[in-house]
Amino acid sequence: MTTTRFPAAGTNGINGIKALRDGVRGPVLLPGDEGYDDALAGFQTASRHRPALVVGAEETADVRAAVGFAAARGLPVAVQATGHGLSVVADGGVLIVARRMREVRVDARARTAWFGAGVVWGQVVEAAAPHGLAPLSGSAAGVGAVSYTLGGGIGLLARQFGYAADQVRGAEIVTADGASRYVTAQSDPELFWALRGAGHNFGVVTGLEVNLVPVDRVFGGGLYFEGALVEDVLRTYAGWSTAVPEEMTSSVGLIAYPDLPQLPAALRGRYAAHVRIAFNGDAAEGERLVAPLRAIGPRLVDDLGELPYSEGESIYKDPPFPHAYTGTNAMLRELDPAALGAVRELTGPDRPLMTVVDLRHLGGALSREPAVASAVGNRDARYILRVITMLDGPDDIEQARRTQERVLEVLAPWTTGSSLPFLYGDGERAGEEQTRTGYAPDAYRRLRELKARLDPANLFRFNRNISPAPAPASPAPAPTPTPRNAASHI
Ligand SMILES: Cc1cc2nc3c(=O)[nH]c(=O)nc-3n(C[C@H](O)[C@H](O)[C@H](O)COP(=O)(O)OP(=O)(O)OC[C@H]3O[C@@H](n4cnc5c(N)ncnc54)[C@H](O)[C@@H]3O)c2cc1C
Repeated sequence: MTTTRFPAAGTNGINGIKALRDGVRGPVLLPGDEGYDDALAGFQTASRHRPALVVGAEETADVRAAVGFAAARGLPVAVQATGHGLSVVADGGVLIVARRMREVRVDARARTAWFGAGVVWGQVVEAAAPHGLAPLSGSAAGVGAVSYTLGGGIGLLARQFGYAADQVRGAEIVTADGASRYVTAQSDPELFWALRGAGHNFGVVTGLEVNLVPVDRVFGGGLYFEGALVEDVLRTYAGWSTAVPEEMTSSVGLIAYPDLPQLPAALRGRYAAHVRIAFNGDAAEGERLVAPLRAIGPRLVDDLGELPYSEGESIYKDPPFPHAYTGTNAMLRELDPAALGAVRELTGPDRPLMTVVDLRHLGGALSREPAVASAVGNRDARYILRVITMLDGPDDIEQARRTQERVLEVLAPWTTGSSLPFLYGDGERAGEEQTRTGYAPDAYRRLRELKARLDPANLFRFNRNISPAPAPASPAPAPTPTPRNAASHI
Protein backbone atom coordinates (compact mmCIF):
# COMPACT_ATOMS: atom_id res chain seq x y z
CA MET A 1 0.00 0.00 0.00
CA THR A 2 1.28 3.50 -0.74
CA THR A 3 1.57 6.09 1.97
CA THR A 4 2.24 9.69 1.10
CA ARG A 5 4.59 11.78 3.18
CA PHE A 6 4.12 15.48 3.66
CA PRO A 7 6.04 18.13 5.55
CA ALA A 8 5.81 17.44 9.25
CA ALA A 9 5.69 21.01 10.55
CA GLY A 10 4.52 24.46 9.70
CA THR A 11 2.46 25.12 6.62
CA ASN A 12 5.33 24.34 4.25
CA GLY A 13 4.06 22.78 1.14
CA ILE A 14 0.37 23.12 2.00
CA ASN A 15 -1.16 26.31 0.79
CA GLY A 16 -4.55 27.70 1.65
CA ILE A 17 -4.54 26.80 5.36
CA LYS A 18 -5.75 30.25 6.37
CA ALA A 19 -8.73 30.03 4.03
CA LEU A 20 -9.51 26.56 5.38
CA ARG A 21 -9.34 27.86 8.96
CA ASP A 22 -11.67 30.70 8.07
CA GLY A 23 -14.08 28.32 6.39
CA VAL A 24 -14.59 25.68 9.10
CA ARG A 25 -16.09 25.92 12.57
CA GLY A 26 -13.81 23.32 14.17
CA PRO A 27 -10.06 23.64 14.75
CA VAL A 28 -7.52 23.23 11.95
CA LEU A 29 -4.24 22.06 13.44
CA LEU A 30 -0.73 21.59 12.14
CA PRO A 31 2.01 19.53 13.83
CA GLY A 32 3.36 21.60 16.70
CA ASP A 33 0.07 23.50 17.20
CA GLU A 34 -1.48 23.38 20.64
CA GLY A 35 -4.15 20.69 20.58
CA TYR A 36 -2.62 18.74 17.67
CA ASP A 37 -1.42 15.84 19.86
CA ASP A 38 -4.66 15.71 21.86
CA ALA A 39 -6.65 15.58 18.62
CA LEU A 40 -4.83 12.38 17.63
CA ALA A 41 -5.52 10.58 20.91
CA GLY A 42 -7.81 7.57 20.68
CA PHE A 43 -8.65 4.29 22.38
CA GLN A 44 -5.86 2.39 20.63
CA THR A 45 -2.54 3.56 22.06
CA ALA A 46 -0.23 1.22 20.11
CA SER A 47 -0.18 3.70 17.22
CA ARG A 48 -1.29 7.18 16.28
CA HIS A 49 -2.02 8.88 13.00
CA ARG A 50 0.70 11.34 11.91
CA PRO A 51 -1.22 13.70 9.64
CA ALA A 52 0.15 16.85 8.05
CA LEU A 53 -3.12 18.55 9.01
CA VAL A 54 -5.99 17.85 11.41
CA VAL A 55 -9.51 19.17 10.95
CA GLY A 56 -11.67 18.79 14.05
CA ALA A 57 -14.99 18.74 12.22
CA GLU A 58 -18.04 20.10 14.01
CA GLU A 59 -20.55 19.72 11.20
CA THR A 60 -20.98 18.33 7.69
CA ALA A 61 -19.83 21.63 6.15
CA ASP A 62 -16.47 21.23 7.94
CA VAL A 63 -16.08 17.73 6.52
CA ARG A 64 -16.91 19.00 3.04
CA ALA A 65 -14.36 21.77 3.38
CA ALA A 66 -11.66 19.35 4.62
CA VAL A 67 -12.29 16.78 1.90
CA GLY A 68 -12.44 19.46 -0.81
CA PHE A 69 -9.20 20.97 0.50
CA ALA A 70 -7.45 17.59 0.51
CA ALA A 71 -8.77 16.53 -2.89
CA ALA A 72 -7.65 19.76 -4.53
CA ARG A 73 -4.11 19.12 -3.32
CA GLY A 74 -4.04 15.37 -3.88
CA LEU A 75 -3.72 14.72 -0.11
CA PRO A 76 -5.17 11.48 1.23
CA VAL A 77 -7.84 11.68 3.96
CA ALA A 78 -8.09 9.68 7.17
CA VAL A 79 -10.99 9.71 9.63
CA GLN A 80 -10.97 9.08 13.35
CA ALA A 81 -13.98 8.91 15.63
CA THR A 82 -12.94 7.15 18.85
CA GLY A 83 -9.90 5.24 17.59
CA HIS A 84 -11.12 1.81 18.73
CA GLY A 85 -10.56 0.45 15.23
CA LEU A 86 -7.38 2.27 14.25
CA SER A 87 -5.82 -0.17 11.85
CA VAL A 88 -3.92 1.76 9.21
CA VAL A 89 -1.87 4.77 10.26
CA ALA A 90 -2.15 7.93 8.20
CA ASP A 91 1.36 9.19 7.55
CA GLY A 92 0.76 12.65 6.17
CA GLY A 93 -2.45 13.80 4.55
CA VAL A 94 -5.49 15.25 6.28
CA LEU A 95 -7.07 13.67 9.36
CA ILE A 96 -10.71 14.49 9.98
CA VAL A 97 -11.44 14.02 13.66
CA ALA A 98 -15.16 13.41 13.99
CA ARG A 99 -15.62 13.33 17.74
CA ARG A 100 -17.31 16.75 17.91
CA MET A 101 -20.16 15.54 15.68
CA ARG A 102 -22.18 14.27 18.64
CA GLU A 103 -25.78 14.79 17.60
CA VAL A 104 -28.28 12.00 18.43
CA ARG A 105 -32.00 12.13 17.64
CA VAL A 106 -34.54 9.43 18.37
CA ASP A 107 -37.91 9.27 16.65
CA ALA A 108 -39.81 6.98 19.01
CA ARG A 109 -42.88 6.76 16.81
CA ALA A 110 -40.90 5.74 13.72
CA ARG A 111 -38.55 3.64 15.89
CA THR A 112 -35.48 5.21 14.31
CA ALA A 113 -32.39 7.05 15.43
CA TRP A 114 -30.12 9.51 13.69
CA PHE A 115 -26.56 9.84 14.96
CA GLY A 116 -23.54 11.85 13.87
CA ALA A 117 -20.03 10.63 13.08
CA GLY A 118 -18.68 11.31 16.57
CA VAL A 119 -21.44 9.57 18.52
CA VAL A 120 -20.63 6.55 20.69
CA TRP A 121 -23.06 3.69 21.31
CA GLY A 122 -23.65 4.66 24.93
CA GLN A 123 -25.26 7.91 23.78
CA VAL A 124 -27.65 6.17 21.38
CA VAL A 125 -28.57 3.52 23.96
CA GLU A 126 -29.29 6.24 26.51
CA ALA A 127 -31.42 8.27 24.08
CA ALA A 128 -33.45 5.23 22.95
CA ALA A 129 -33.98 3.57 26.36
CA PRO A 130 -36.74 5.88 27.70
CA HIS A 131 -38.86 4.80 24.71
CA GLY A 132 -38.34 1.07 25.34
CA LEU A 133 -36.11 0.94 22.25
CA ALA A 134 -32.52 -0.08 21.60
CA PRO A 135 -29.96 0.21 18.80
CA LEU A 136 -27.97 -2.83 17.65
CA SER A 137 -25.01 -1.79 19.78
CA GLY A 138 -22.08 -3.98 20.74
CA SER A 139 -20.12 -4.99 23.78
CA ALA A 140 -18.66 -1.56 24.65
CA ALA A 141 -20.53 1.73 25.08
CA GLY A 142 -17.53 3.82 24.05
CA VAL A 143 -17.23 2.46 20.50
CA GLY A 144 -18.12 4.84 17.64
CA ALA A 145 -21.62 4.00 16.37
CA VAL A 146 -21.03 5.09 12.75
CA SER A 147 -17.78 3.25 12.07
CA TYR A 148 -19.07 0.10 13.85
CA THR A 149 -22.20 0.09 11.68
CA LEU A 150 -20.37 0.78 8.42
CA GLY A 151 -18.22 -2.32 9.02
CA GLY A 152 -21.24 -4.57 9.74
CA GLY A 153 -21.56 -4.48 13.51
CA ILE A 154 -22.08 -7.64 15.57
CA GLY A 155 -24.14 -6.56 18.55
CA LEU A 156 -25.31 -7.94 21.87
CA LEU A 157 -28.48 -9.33 20.21
CA ALA A 158 -26.95 -9.97 16.80
CA ARG A 159 -28.38 -13.45 16.28
CA GLN A 160 -31.92 -12.13 16.62
CA PHE A 161 -31.63 -8.82 14.74
CA GLY A 162 -28.68 -9.33 12.37
CA TYR A 163 -25.85 -6.95 11.62
CA ALA A 164 -26.25 -3.32 12.66
CA ALA A 165 -25.65 -2.51 8.99
CA ASP A 166 -28.84 -4.44 8.16
CA GLN A 167 -30.90 -1.82 10.01
CA VAL A 168 -29.50 1.25 8.24
CA ARG A 169 -32.17 3.38 6.54
CA GLY A 170 -29.97 6.13 5.14
CA ALA A 171 -26.48 7.60 5.34
CA GLU A 172 -25.19 11.11 4.88
CA ILE A 173 -21.79 10.93 3.22
CA VAL A 174 -19.18 13.35 1.92
CA THR A 175 -17.55 11.72 -1.09
CA ALA A 176 -14.14 12.37 -2.67
CA ASP A 177 -15.57 15.15 -4.86
CA GLY A 178 -16.37 17.11 -1.68
CA ALA A 179 -20.13 16.77 -2.22
CA SER A 180 -22.50 15.69 0.52
CA ARG A 181 -25.40 13.40 -0.29
CA TYR A 182 -28.04 11.45 1.57
CA VAL A 183 -27.92 7.86 0.36
CA THR A 184 -30.84 5.46 0.58
CA ALA A 185 -31.80 2.24 -1.17
CA GLN A 186 -33.81 4.34 -3.61
CA SER A 187 -31.48 7.29 -4.18
CA ASP A 188 -28.28 5.34 -4.91
CA PRO A 189 -28.75 1.56 -4.61
CA GLU A 190 -25.14 0.63 -5.39
CA LEU A 191 -23.58 3.02 -2.84
CA PHE A 192 -26.25 2.08 -0.28
CA TRP A 193 -25.31 -1.58 -0.79
CA ALA A 194 -21.59 -0.79 -0.40
CA LEU A 195 -21.86 1.51 2.61
CA ARG A 196 -23.38 -1.29 4.66
CA GLY A 197 -20.31 -3.50 5.17
CA ALA A 198 -17.61 -1.54 3.35
CA GLY A 199 -18.58 2.01 4.24
CA HIS A 200 -15.17 3.26 5.37
CA ASN A 201 -13.89 3.25 1.81
CA PHE A 202 -16.26 5.59 0.01
CA GLY A 203 -16.10 8.83 1.93
CA VAL A 204 -16.74 10.33 5.34
CA VAL A 205 -20.12 9.27 6.66
CA THR A 206 -21.30 12.26 8.65
CA GLY A 207 -24.42 10.60 10.03
CA LEU A 208 -26.59 7.49 9.87
CA GLU A 209 -30.31 6.85 10.26
CA VAL A 210 -31.04 3.39 11.64
CA ASN A 211 -33.97 1.31 12.82
CA LEU A 212 -34.24 0.70 16.55
CA VAL A 213 -35.60 -2.52 18.03
CA PRO A 214 -38.21 -2.81 20.79
CA VAL A 215 -35.94 -4.11 23.53
CA ASP A 216 -36.09 -2.82 27.07
CA ARG A 217 -34.69 -5.54 29.29
CA VAL A 218 -32.65 -8.66 28.60
CA PHE A 219 -31.58 -11.71 30.57
CA GLY A 220 -27.82 -11.47 30.55
CA GLY A 221 -24.48 -11.34 32.27
CA GLY A 222 -21.59 -13.71 32.66
CA LEU A 223 -20.59 -17.12 33.97
CA TYR A 224 -16.91 -17.34 34.91
CA PHE A 225 -15.28 -20.75 35.18
CA GLU A 226 -11.80 -21.44 36.48
CA GLY A 227 -8.98 -22.34 34.09
CA ALA A 228 -9.15 -26.08 34.82
CA LEU A 229 -12.64 -26.11 33.30
CA VAL A 230 -11.78 -24.26 30.08
CA GLU A 231 -11.75 -27.40 27.96
CA ASP A 232 -15.15 -28.50 29.35
CA VAL A 233 -16.55 -25.03 28.75
CA LEU A 234 -15.44 -25.00 25.11
CA ARG A 235 -16.74 -28.51 24.46
CA THR A 236 -20.10 -27.85 26.13
CA TYR A 237 -20.47 -24.46 24.46
CA ALA A 238 -19.80 -25.93 21.00
CA GLY A 239 -22.74 -28.32 21.41
CA TRP A 240 -25.03 -26.02 23.39
CA SER A 241 -24.77 -23.18 20.89
CA THR A 242 -26.05 -25.31 18.02
CA ALA A 243 -29.43 -25.73 19.75
CA VAL A 244 -30.30 -22.33 21.25
CA PRO A 245 -32.95 -19.99 19.77
CA GLU A 246 -32.02 -16.85 17.85
CA GLU A 247 -33.04 -14.71 20.82
CA MET A 248 -29.90 -16.05 22.53
CA THR A 249 -26.63 -14.36 21.54
CA SER A 250 -23.55 -15.47 23.45
CA SER A 251 -19.79 -15.83 23.46
CA VAL A 252 -16.92 -17.25 25.47
CA GLY A 253 -13.82 -15.30 26.44
CA LEU A 254 -10.63 -16.97 27.61
CA ILE A 255 -8.83 -14.44 29.74
CA ALA A 256 -5.81 -14.46 32.04
CA TYR A 257 -6.93 -11.72 34.42
CA PRO A 258 -4.22 -9.48 35.80
CA ASP A 259 -3.95 -9.18 39.56
CA LEU A 260 -5.65 -5.80 39.84
CA PRO A 261 -7.68 -4.47 42.78
CA GLN A 262 -10.53 -3.24 40.55
CA LEU A 263 -11.32 -6.85 39.53
CA PRO A 264 -13.55 -9.14 41.64
CA ALA A 265 -11.34 -10.99 44.12
CA ALA A 266 -12.37 -14.33 42.58
CA LEU A 267 -10.86 -13.36 39.21
CA ARG A 268 -7.69 -11.55 40.21
CA GLY A 269 -4.60 -13.16 38.74
CA ARG A 270 -6.60 -16.14 37.43
CA TYR A 271 -7.11 -17.69 34.03
CA ALA A 272 -10.83 -18.13 33.41
CA ALA A 273 -13.48 -18.82 30.79
CA HIS A 274 -16.08 -16.04 30.72
CA VAL A 275 -19.36 -17.09 29.07
CA ARG A 276 -21.34 -13.98 28.08
CA ILE A 277 -25.10 -14.20 27.64
CA ALA A 278 -27.64 -11.80 26.13
CA PHE A 279 -31.09 -13.35 25.82
CA ASN A 280 -34.06 -11.31 24.62
CA GLY A 281 -36.74 -13.22 26.50
CA ASP A 282 -38.04 -13.74 29.99
CA ALA A 283 -35.72 -14.57 32.84
CA ALA A 284 -37.26 -17.99 33.57
CA GLU A 285 -36.67 -19.10 29.99
CA GLY A 286 -33.16 -17.64 30.13
CA GLU A 287 -32.42 -19.60 33.30
CA ARG A 288 -33.67 -22.78 31.63
CA LEU A 289 -31.53 -22.20 28.54
CA VAL A 290 -28.30 -21.61 30.47
CA ALA A 291 -28.76 -24.60 32.80
CA PRO A 292 -26.45 -26.87 30.71
CA LEU A 293 -23.73 -24.22 30.97
CA ARG A 294 -24.10 -23.84 34.73
CA ALA A 295 -23.90 -27.63 34.96
CA ILE A 296 -20.30 -27.51 33.68
CA GLY A 297 -19.14 -26.83 37.24
CA PRO A 298 -18.77 -24.19 39.94
CA ARG A 299 -18.54 -20.59 38.82
CA LEU A 300 -15.96 -18.12 40.09
CA VAL A 301 -18.54 -15.42 39.42
CA ASP A 302 -22.12 -15.84 38.19
CA ASP A 303 -23.86 -12.51 37.58
CA LEU A 304 -26.59 -13.69 35.21
CA GLY A 305 -29.95 -12.04 35.69
CA GLU A 306 -32.43 -9.61 34.21
CA LEU A 307 -31.00 -6.19 33.39
CA PRO A 308 -31.98 -3.10 31.41
CA TYR A 309 -30.52 -3.08 27.91
CA SER A 310 -28.91 0.24 28.87
CA GLU A 311 -26.65 -1.75 31.23
CA GLY A 312 -25.64 -4.14 28.45
CA GLU A 313 -22.03 -3.03 28.70
CA SER A 314 -21.80 -5.00 31.94
CA ILE A 315 -22.22 -8.26 29.99
CA TYR A 316 -18.75 -8.18 28.38
CA LYS A 317 -16.98 -5.82 30.78
CA ASP A 318 -14.56 -4.71 28.06
CA PRO A 319 -11.85 -2.48 29.50
CA PRO A 320 -13.11 1.11 29.02
CA PHE A 321 -9.67 2.78 29.21
CA PRO A 322 -7.33 3.33 26.22
CA HIS A 323 -4.63 0.73 25.81
CA ALA A 324 -2.33 -0.92 23.26
CA TYR A 325 -3.49 -4.05 21.47
CA THR A 326 -3.41 -5.92 18.23
CA GLY A 327 -6.04 -8.37 17.09
CA THR A 328 -7.05 -10.75 14.36
CA ASN A 329 -9.94 -13.13 13.80
CA ALA A 330 -11.29 -16.02 11.80
CA MET A 331 -14.94 -16.46 10.86
CA LEU A 332 -15.70 -20.16 11.14
CA ARG A 333 -18.14 -22.56 9.49
CA GLU A 334 -18.06 -24.82 12.54
CA LEU A 335 -16.11 -25.46 15.72
CA ASP A 336 -13.55 -28.22 15.75
CA PRO A 337 -12.69 -29.38 19.30
CA ALA A 338 -9.07 -30.26 18.46
CA ALA A 339 -8.53 -26.86 16.82
CA LEU A 340 -10.01 -25.10 19.86
CA GLY A 341 -7.62 -27.10 22.04
CA ALA A 342 -4.69 -25.94 19.93
CA VAL A 343 -5.84 -22.31 20.15
CA ARG A 344 -6.04 -22.64 23.92
CA GLU A 345 -2.47 -23.99 24.01
CA LEU A 346 -1.21 -21.11 21.86
CA THR A 347 -2.88 -18.41 23.94
CA GLY A 348 -2.93 -19.82 27.47
CA PRO A 349 -1.86 -18.10 30.69
CA ASP A 350 1.69 -19.43 30.51
CA ARG A 351 2.34 -17.40 27.35
CA PRO A 352 4.52 -14.28 27.71
CA LEU A 353 1.94 -11.84 26.29
CA MET A 354 -1.58 -11.42 27.66
CA THR A 355 -3.84 -12.79 24.95
CA VAL A 356 -7.62 -12.78 25.07
CA VAL A 357 -9.59 -15.29 23.00
CA ASP A 358 -13.17 -14.30 22.18
CA LEU A 359 -15.39 -16.93 20.57
CA ARG A 360 -18.75 -15.49 19.48
CA HIS A 361 -21.76 -17.44 18.28
CA LEU A 362 -23.08 -16.10 14.95
CA GLY A 363 -25.76 -17.55 12.66
CA GLY A 364 -29.44 -16.74 13.09
CA ALA A 365 -30.34 -13.40 11.51
CA LEU A 366 -26.65 -12.71 10.83
CA SER A 367 -26.72 -15.44 8.21
CA ARG A 368 -29.70 -13.98 6.32
CA GLU A 369 -29.36 -11.27 3.69
CA PRO A 370 -31.57 -8.29 4.71
CA ALA A 371 -34.49 -7.25 2.49
CA VAL A 372 -32.17 -4.74 0.80
CA ALA A 373 -28.90 -6.61 0.19
CA SER A 374 -25.63 -5.28 1.67
CA ALA A 375 -21.90 -5.83 1.11
CA VAL A 376 -21.46 -7.61 4.47
CA GLY A 377 -19.55 -10.82 3.78
CA ASN A 378 -19.11 -14.21 5.42
CA ARG A 379 -22.77 -14.60 6.34
CA ASP A 380 -22.29 -18.37 6.25
CA ALA A 381 -19.98 -18.24 9.29
CA ARG A 382 -21.46 -19.75 12.44
CA TYR A 383 -18.80 -18.46 14.83
CA ILE A 384 -16.07 -15.89 14.96
CA LEU A 385 -12.90 -16.54 16.92
CA ARG A 386 -10.93 -13.44 17.80
CA VAL A 387 -7.46 -13.20 19.32
CA ILE A 388 -6.50 -9.91 20.95
CA THR A 389 -3.01 -9.44 22.32
CA MET A 390 -2.16 -6.71 24.80
CA LEU A 391 1.07 -4.89 23.99
CA ASP A 392 3.46 -3.47 26.55
CA GLY A 393 5.78 -2.00 23.95
CA PRO A 394 6.83 -2.16 20.30
CA ASP A 395 8.98 -5.24 20.96
CA ASP A 396 5.83 -7.25 21.66
CA ILE A 397 4.39 -6.80 18.21
CA GLU A 398 6.43 -9.46 16.40
CA GLN A 399 5.65 -12.03 19.06
CA ALA A 400 1.94 -11.16 19.00
CA ARG A 401 1.91 -11.53 15.22
CA ARG A 402 3.54 -14.95 15.39
CA THR A 403 0.96 -16.23 17.87
CA GLN A 404 -1.93 -14.77 15.89
CA GLU A 405 -0.64 -16.23 12.63
CA ARG A 406 -0.32 -19.66 14.26
CA VAL A 407 -3.92 -19.41 15.50
CA LEU A 408 -5.14 -18.52 12.00
CA GLU A 409 -3.20 -21.47 10.54
CA VAL A 410 -4.78 -23.86 13.02
CA LEU A 411 -8.28 -22.57 12.17
CA ALA A 412 -7.73 -22.33 8.40
CA PRO A 413 -9.66 -25.52 7.43
CA TRP A 414 -12.86 -24.09 8.99
CA THR A 415 -12.34 -20.42 8.10
CA THR A 416 -14.67 -18.59 5.72
CA GLY A 417 -12.84 -15.24 5.96
CA SER A 418 -12.36 -12.46 8.46
CA SER A 419 -14.40 -9.68 10.04
CA LEU A 420 -12.60 -6.47 9.08
CA PRO A 421 -13.82 -4.28 11.99
CA PHE A 422 -12.34 -6.82 14.38
CA LEU A 423 -8.85 -6.55 12.87
CA TYR A 424 -6.81 -4.23 15.04
CA GLY A 425 -3.47 -2.79 13.95
CA ASP A 426 -1.16 -4.28 11.37
CA GLY A 427 -3.19 -2.96 8.43
CA GLU A 428 -0.24 -1.93 6.30
CA ARG A 429 1.35 -5.31 6.75
CA ALA A 430 -1.65 -7.44 5.98
CA GLY A 431 -2.78 -5.18 3.16
CA GLU A 432 -5.46 -5.76 0.61
CA GLU A 433 -5.17 -9.54 0.64
CA GLN A 434 -6.69 -9.51 4.10
CA THR A 435 -9.36 -7.00 3.10
CA ARG A 436 -10.55 -9.38 0.40
CA THR A 437 -11.32 -12.00 3.06
CA GLY A 438 -14.09 -9.76 4.38
CA TYR A 439 -16.20 -10.10 1.23
CA ALA A 440 -17.54 -12.57 -1.29
CA PRO A 441 -15.39 -12.45 -4.48
CA ASP A 442 -18.18 -10.98 -6.56
CA ALA A 443 -18.96 -8.35 -3.92
CA TYR A 444 -15.28 -7.44 -3.76
CA ARG A 445 -15.18 -6.90 -7.53
CA ARG A 446 -18.28 -4.68 -7.30
CA LEU A 447 -16.73 -2.70 -4.46
CA ARG A 448 -13.57 -2.06 -6.47
CA GLU A 449 -15.61 -0.88 -9.43
CA LEU A 450 -17.62 1.48 -7.25
CA LYS A 451 -14.41 2.74 -5.63
CA ALA A 452 -13.01 3.48 -9.10
CA ARG A 453 -16.13 5.48 -9.86
CA LEU A 454 -16.37 7.43 -6.58
CA ASP A 455 -12.78 7.65 -5.36
CA PRO A 456 -10.46 6.90 -8.30
CA ALA A 457 -7.47 8.56 -6.59
CA ASN A 458 -8.05 6.45 -3.47
CA LEU A 459 -8.28 9.54 -1.29
CA PHE A 460 -9.84 7.42 1.47
CA ARG A 461 -7.10 4.81 1.80
CA PHE A 462 -6.30 4.81 5.52
CA ASN A 463 -8.67 1.96 6.28
CA ARG A 464 -9.05 -1.69 5.29
CA ASN A 465 -8.54 -0.45 1.81
CA ILE A 466 -10.38 -1.51 -1.30
CA SER A 467 -8.29 -0.21 -4.18
CA PRO A 468 -10.08 1.21 -7.22
CA ALA A 469 -10.52 -1.27 -10.06
CA PRO A 470 -8.18 -0.47 -12.94
CA ALA A 471 -9.80 1.45 -15.76
CA PRO A 472 -10.95 -0.93 -18.45
CA ALA A 473 -8.43 -1.19 -21.29
CA SER A 474 -9.45 1.11 -24.10
CA PRO A 475 -10.95 -0.90 -26.93
CA ALA A 476 -8.56 -1.87 -29.70
CA PRO A 477 -8.94 0.40 -32.73
CA ALA A 478 -11.38 -1.03 -35.25
CA PRO A 479 -9.55 -2.63 -38.16
CA THR A 480 -9.49 -0.49 -41.26
CA PRO A 481 -12.04 -2.05 -43.56
CA THR A 482 -10.45 -3.80 -46.46
CA PRO A 483 -11.95 -2.62 -49.74
CA ARG A 484 -13.88 -5.41 -51.35
CA ASN A 485 -11.87 -5.09 -54.46
CA ALA A 486 -8.54 -4.71 -52.60
CA ALA A 487 -7.00 -7.53 -54.56
CA SER A 488 -7.51 -5.66 -57.76
CA HIS A 489 -5.37 -2.78 -56.37
CA ILE A 490 -2.33 -4.85 -55.67
C1 LIG B 1 -13.27 -2.58 23.07
C2 LIG B 1 -13.88 -2.81 21.72
C3 LIG B 1 -15.14 -3.40 21.63
C4 LIG B 1 -15.72 -3.64 20.38
N1 LIG B 1 -16.93 -4.27 20.32
C5 LIG B 1 -17.47 -4.55 19.12
C6 LIG B 1 -18.69 -5.29 19.03
O1 LIG B 1 -19.27 -5.70 20.03
N2 LIG B 1 -19.18 -5.56 17.79
C7 LIG B 1 -18.55 -5.12 16.65
O2 LIG B 1 -19.04 -5.39 15.55
N3 LIG B 1 -17.41 -4.41 16.71
C8 LIG B 1 -16.85 -4.14 17.91
N4 LIG B 1 -15.66 -3.48 17.97
C9 LIG B 1 -14.99 -3.10 16.70
C10 LIG B 1 -15.45 -1.71 16.28
O3 LIG B 1 -16.77 -1.78 15.77
C11 LIG B 1 -14.54 -1.15 15.16
O4 LIG B 1 -13.21 -1.16 15.58
C12 LIG B 1 -14.97 0.26 14.77
O5 LIG B 1 -14.35 0.62 13.57
C13 LIG B 1 -14.56 1.25 15.84
O6 LIG B 1 -15.15 2.50 15.58
P1 LIG B 1 -14.38 3.86 15.98
O7 LIG B 1 -15.36 4.94 16.01
O8 LIG B 1 -13.55 3.64 17.16
O9 LIG B 1 -13.50 4.06 14.70
P2 LIG B 1 -12.02 4.62 14.51
O10 LIG B 1 -10.98 3.77 15.14
O11 LIG B 1 -12.01 6.04 14.87
O12 LIG B 1 -11.96 4.37 12.97
C14 LIG B 1 -11.92 3.04 12.49
C15 LIG B 1 -12.04 3.03 10.98
O13 LIG B 1 -13.30 3.58 10.62
C16 LIG B 1 -13.14 4.65 9.71
N5 LIG B 1 -14.13 5.66 10.06
C17 LIG B 1 -14.36 6.17 11.29
N6 LIG B 1 -15.37 7.04 11.24
C18 LIG B 1 -15.76 7.10 9.95
C19 LIG B 1 -16.76 7.83 9.26
N7 LIG B 1 -17.55 8.69 9.90
N8 LIG B 1 -16.90 7.65 7.92
C20 LIG B 1 -16.11 6.79 7.25
N9 LIG B 1 -15.15 6.06 7.87
C21 LIG B 1 -14.99 6.22 9.19
C22 LIG B 1 -11.72 5.14 9.90
O14 LIG B 1 -11.22 5.71 8.73
C23 LIG B 1 -10.99 3.86 10.26
O15 LIG B 1 -10.61 3.16 9.09
C24 LIG B 1 -15.05 -3.24 19.20
C25 LIG B 1 -13.79 -2.64 19.29
C26 LIG B 1 -13.19 -2.44 20.52
C27 LIG B 1 -11.81 -1.88 20.59
